[in-house]
Formats: sequence, structure tokens, C-alpha cells
Amino acid sequence: MAAPKDDLLAAARQARDRAYAPYSAFRVGAAVRGASGRIYAGCNVENASFGLTCCAERNAVFALVAAGEREVTEVLVIGDTPEALPPCGACRQVLAEFAAPSAVVHMCDRTGAGRSVPVAELLPHVFRLKKARPARTGARREAPTKGPR
Ligand SMILES: [Zn+2]
Repeated sequence: MAAPKDDLLAAARQARDRAYAPYSAFRVGAAVRGASGRIYAGCNVENASFGLTCCAERNAVFALVAAGEREVTEVLVIGDTPEALPPCGACRQVLAEFAAPSAVVHMCDRTGAGRSVPVAELLPHVFRLKKARPARTGARREAPTKGPR
């Protein structure tokens, strides 16, 4: 499996340094590469109401979507752990929504070393719903439909 490129690792490390983790001190950074080649980073953001906490991987994917992209082609996750850090189950499901089964996920230890696996290996029995209409690929807004008044 391909080693992560330095740009993806640098973005994830920078995001990790910006993590908001005052309760766990478990800081995580993630970076995803969009089909455009652009990189989107995310960090974990905790909340005093723990259920509102969101992982770095999901925040990175949501930044990609907010920027108008829909496809993740590569992912990197890094914490401050001595072992490679895998995405949690919730993040695996979100990655599977926006990444092809063959998209590579790099799970890194604190040094940036680790292992890389395809999304399909992380979440082999992915939950999918049939989309009601084709997914929009860009940030364009659709014209509002006029209904009866
Ligand atoms: Zn997660």
C-alpha cells in the first residue's frame, strides 16, 4: 500500500495541534484528499456534553463537503499514540459514504509511520441507502422550485 504523501501528513499534524480536547487530552488530526487534489483537514472537537464531540476524520470530510466536493480519494489519521490510530466505527461509516472502497486510509502513529488499508477493509459490510436522486457533485445551488401559492 502506498505511503502517505508529506502534504497529507503535514495537514493532519497541523490539525492535530489545533485539536480541542480539554477533557480527554487525546488529540487527533485527520486530512482527506478530495478528487480535485485539494486537502481538507480536521481535528477532534470535544464538548462538555460528551455526546456532541466530533472526531477529526468526520470534521475533515465535512469540510470537504462544505467546500463543494463529494469524493475523498485518500485519508490520513494521526494522534499522539505509539501505535497506528484507526478511525472509529462512526468515522468509517462516514468515510465509506464519500470514498470509493479502494480509497486508501493511512493510520499513523505519532511519528507518521503506520499502516495503510483500503476503505473496504476498514468497513467490509457498509450500511448503504439508495439515494433519492443523483448526488450533486459541485457547490452549485439548484433553482428553487415554485409551488402553488
Ligand atoms: Zn471517529
